[in-house]
Amino acid sequence: MDEMNFGSRDARGNFSPKKPIDYGPAFAWPPKPGAVLKWFFAFPGYLLPWNLLYAIAAIGIWYFLTPQLVHFQTFSLFWFSVILVRNIVLALLVYGSWHIWLYVWRKQGTSFKYNRNWPEETAERFTFNNQTHDNIFWTLVSGVPIWTCYEVLLLWSCANGYVAMITPSENPVMFIALFFLVPFVHEVGFYFAHRFLHFPWLYRIAHHLHHRNNNPGPWSGLSMHPLEHIIYFSSALIFFIVPAHPVHIINLLSRLSLAPAQGHTGFDRVATGDSASIDTSYYAHYLHHKYFEVNYADGMVPLDKWFGSFHDGTAEAHEAMKHRRRKRGI
Ligand SMILES: [Zn+2]
Ligand SMILES: [Zn+2]
Repeated sequence: MDEMNFGSRDARGNFSPKKPIDYGPAFAWPPKPGAVLKWFFAFPGYLLPWNLLYAIAAIGIWYFLTPQLVHFQTFSLFWFSVILVRNIVLALLVYGSWHIWLYVWRKQGTSFKYNRNWPEETAERFTFNNQTHDNIFWTLVSGVPIWTCYEVLLLWSCANGYVAMITPSENPVMFIALFFLVPFVHEVGFYFAHRFLHFPWLYRIAHHLHHRNNNPGPWSGLSMHPLEHIIYFSSALIFFIVPAHPVHIINLLSRLSLAPAQGHTGFDRVATGDSASIDTSYYAHYLHHKYFEVNYADGMVPLDKWFGSFHDGTAEAHEAMKHRRRKRGI
């Protein structure tokens, strides 16, 4: 599969896709019901592949990999450890697979890789002077335990009635509707948490750690300062307001925890054969790592467009970003 059919490389060898970054038609104005319907079922589109995959994964995790709710009525270190080990295994599987395929086996070389260089083997700015070791460390030592704390807190709250619980038999419509709402909660929560993390004082304390990865790889996704993890996962607290089933809590938390792997692959497409590819569509977030103050969110809700921080990858958007910076005297 020839990357040049999908984009071009500049003089430095950086790849950029031909198609400008665009949002789905969900929030287009005037509304386009036909386009929304098409996008809903398209591949890639709203359902396929990722949203459906994460919903199915959540159902699998809840039914096969989560102890019964009754065990969470009182706090138990044993059950906390069970969830922690399960989450470590999930993280190793997801982040590890992307990393091994693209960065260890280098199955497609630098084809579709935004930055032609491989992550630095030795760089002093990273913990252990090594990007991959640094990223794995912050993911497993801070990210996964804080994800687990939120999950156990919410399961404990469900078990004790502090979170209003719905069931598929009593509230079938709400039960299904919440699976469609979770991706929006994920995205809007991420946008506002991320904007907050870019406040200069908070950036200096916490978010700079994530931004050390200017040439990200999958493990960079959840490589964050503990304070950032606390803020990042806090959108799950919405379930103290919105009645839900534990499977929705797991849906949101597992997306927040595992989706950053694909969001930081550093590749525009993952080639799966001569003519097939998975469009990772994460150019927007790659540009955020490159230029810092653009594209705080990516996906369906055009928040960056509404708040004036959108960079669609085109030369015009780049000029607009430079103009904004000049106005602010940067
Ligand atoms: Zn990032
Ligand atoms: Zn950032």
